[in-house]
Parts: sequence; C-alpha cells; structure tokens
Amino acid sequence: MSHLAMAGGPATVPQQFRQLPWPVVTASEEQALTRVLASGKFTSMSYKEQEVPALEHEWAAQVQTSYCAAVSSGTAALTLSLAAAGIGPGDEVLVPALSFIATATAPFQQMAIPVFVDIDPFTFNIDPEQLEQHITERTRAILPVHLHGLPADMDKILAIAHKFQLLVIEDAAQAHGATYKQKQVGSLGDIAAFSLNVSKNLPTCGEGGLITTDNEELYQNVLMLRQFGERIEEGKERSYISHQIGWNHKLNSLQAAFARSQLTHFPAYEAIRQQNVPRFLASLADLPAIICPYVASDRTHAWHILRLRLDPRRLDIDTVSPRSFRLAVQRALRAEGVAVTEYQKISLPAQPIFQEETHKGSIYPWELPGLPAYHYHKEDYPQTNTVLDDSFTIQRVHLHPHSATLLEYYTEAFHKVFSHLDTLVHLAHTLDEQAGTGILKQAR
Ligand SMILES: *Cc1c(COP(=O)(O)O)cnc(C)c1O
Repeated sequence: MSHLAMAGGPATVPQQFRQLPWPVVTASEEQALTRVLASGKFTSMSYKEQEVPALEHEWAAQVQTSYCAAVSSGTAALTLSLAAAGIGPGDEVLVPALSFIATATAPFQQMAIPVFVDIDPFTFNIDPEQLEQHITERTRAILPVHLHGLPADMDKILAIAHKFQLLVIEDAAQAHGATYKQKQVGSLGDIAAFSLNVSKNLPTCGEGGLITTDNEELYQNVLMLRQFGERIEEGKERSYISHQIGWNHKLNSLQAAFARSQLTHFPAYEAIRQQNVPRFLASLADLPAIICPYVASDRTHAWHILRLRLDPRRLDIDTVSPRSFRLAVQRALRAEGVAVTEYQKISLPAQPIFQEETHKGSIYPWELPGLPAYHYHKEDYPQTNTVLDDSFTIQRVHLHPHSATLLEYYTEAFHKVFSHLDTLVHLAHTLDEQAGTGILKQAR
C-alpha cells in the first residue's frame, strides 16, 4: 500500500488532470464574441441589439416561463426580484441558514429582514418543517435556495406560502436545468433568480444573471428597475424619465452572446454530468464513512457542487469529533490532488454583518423605528452547523465535460486515503487536541 501523499508518498491525481478549465471556451464562444464586436452593439440599449433579447427568449423557453429578463449578476437578479415584488422596509423574508451571502443580503438591500431557517441535513436545503414557526405578521416572502443544484421541497414550501399568502422567490443560482416533479426550477415560485457567473453551470465570460417569471406585472417591474426606473416601451425611443428607484443592472451584449453559446452546449454538458457524477458517487459506496447527497426520486440534481458528509461513527470510531475527522480526510485528499474545499466556512447568520452589531453609520433594517430588535444567534441553526462541521465540497472541476477521468482518479484517492484509517484518526485526534474539541476532553 503506497504512503499517503500527506506523509511523503506519491500523489494520486496527476498534475495535468488537476486543472480542468471552466467555462469551456470553444470556437463557438469565440465566434459569438467576434459577432458582437463586429456589430458594434455592446449594450441592450443599442439600436436593434439582438443578443440580450435572444438570450432571454431562449432561457424562458428552457425554463418554460412566459418571461425572462437578463441582468448584470445573480445578486442583481435576487435584488430586482425582491424589489419588483415590493419587498420593503421591515418586511421579513425567510431564508435558509446555509447559502451564498447574496441570498441574505438581497433582502437587506430592500431594508427587509432576513429571517434564517435551519436546513435539512440530507438535502442541505431550507427545512420546510421549520418554516411555520418563523412566520410573523411581517413575513412577506420565502426565498428557498436550490442549493448545490438540488431543488428545494417546493410542494411543502408552496403550500405554506399559499396558507400565509407569502411570495416565493427561488434562488436558482446553482441549479440551472434541475427539475422538480418534471418542472424546471425557475418556474416553481412567483419569480426566480439565476446567476451566469463564470463559476456556475451556465456561465458567461464574467458576470450575469437571469430572472424568470410567469407574472407579467413582476416582469414589467423588473424591466423598469433594471434600468433606472424608466418605462420601457417596445419600439419607442428611450424616455429618460424615472418612475421608481431603479438600478443599472443590465446585461451587456458580449456576455449575452457568450451565455447563448454556452446554452447551445448546455444539454450535452448536463447529460455528461448526469453520467459522471452519479458514477463517481456510486464508486464511493464501499466507504461507509461517506454520506453522499440524497436526491429524492421526484427531482433531478444539477450537480453544481458536490457536498460529502463524513461520519466516523459509521466506522465505529467515536474518539474523534466529526469536524476533526473531516478536516483530517480533507487534508489527506488535498495532498493526493483532490480539489476538496469548504463551501461556506460559516453559516449565513454567523457572518459578521449579522453578528457585529456595530454598524458604523450604515442604516440597518433592524434599526427601523417600530421594529423589534433582531439578534442573530449562530447556535440557533444546529443542522447547518453540523453539516458545515462534518462535510466538504468539490466544486467546478466536475463541471467540465472531460471530468470522467479526473473523477476516476478521485475515486482512487478516496480509497487510498481511507485505507490509512489509523493515520486519519491520529491526525483527527491531534486536531481535536489543538482545537480543544476532543470528544474525550468534552466528556471529562
Ligand atoms: C452565485 C450565487 C448567487 C449570486 O450570483 P452572482 O452572479 O455571483 O451575483 C446567489 N445565490 C447563490 C445560491 C449563489 O450560488
């Protein structure tokens, strides 16, 4: 048995396989950009600009919604969705405790209050069973995230939304193409936000976002708000008259053209991922300490991020904390060349903006007159904290259509690492001692 790379042995994953670029740039992306450069039409405001409306049309067709609006980022898509829906000062928005920061700051930008809800530890999505207990007379919307590409429990979420007359705003930034009961994410709630950031499953060459909805009024509001609050009338000259507090959140033509080109590859890349990723996860089935993502049969996973939980107790090891065990495995895997990372080092409520109650002159929504004092306690989200402790993630590398070979090396690396269990436990012990988190120590 060869030594762990961490202990000076040979690394499993060859250097040349470690960097798989994402996005994949082919001749079709180059042609798309050249086409825009030659046209001289760089923004959606250019006379007869075609790329932005074409992308909107194509994405609405993919998601099966009546409307799609292209915007400057996924964060802008969230902000505009909330603003278009009239979410305003003091309104409460239910948000999962585990997500990217933009999910929590979007309500903030509207002077609304993000109210965090713990996650389900197997789907990593907002736990629908815990929604009702957080609803107050100020609650206006639920903002479920299809985290890592797995659709949230939409039937339960929509039933609660219906009962309490709440809006449902999907954060689909990580879940392009994922389906729930045969319907595309982005068509399940009132309005939805997608990201086109370079890191996502449908990337552009930089920043971008897409909003989808079947609601014409919300759509018209989005169009106004993404352009300075102006009324946009098709075929009419721009008025330069503002009716609402809008932003400049438009997508530019180069990024629209690049995203359109990616969209032509999207079904093929997606189909390859649907083979590669489940095959990789199945190859870990004989390692009982690893808990792979759970996908209910009524939905499909876009496999944007792979999160693996570790439970040493499944190997009858109860002398080290799950966190230190996970850190030990992570360190060993990284040395073998497996790109394991931590997606979100801390929960959303643990972020300094919610913990440090010194705002240095900024206006924070919970300082609005008439509102109760909001305080965020990171301990209030035990499932989120458990998952952050005992799991790591694999990001980006598996999105590349040629990642099958890389994932085979990953399988080999995982098996090699787990064949050195004693070393892992020893390292975990040391980490526990350093952190003062040892199980034995706690028991004393
Ligand atoms: C990436 C992401 C966003 C923000 O998208 P940007 O395009 O980076 O602004 C929002 N929510 C989630 C869950 C994301 O992963």
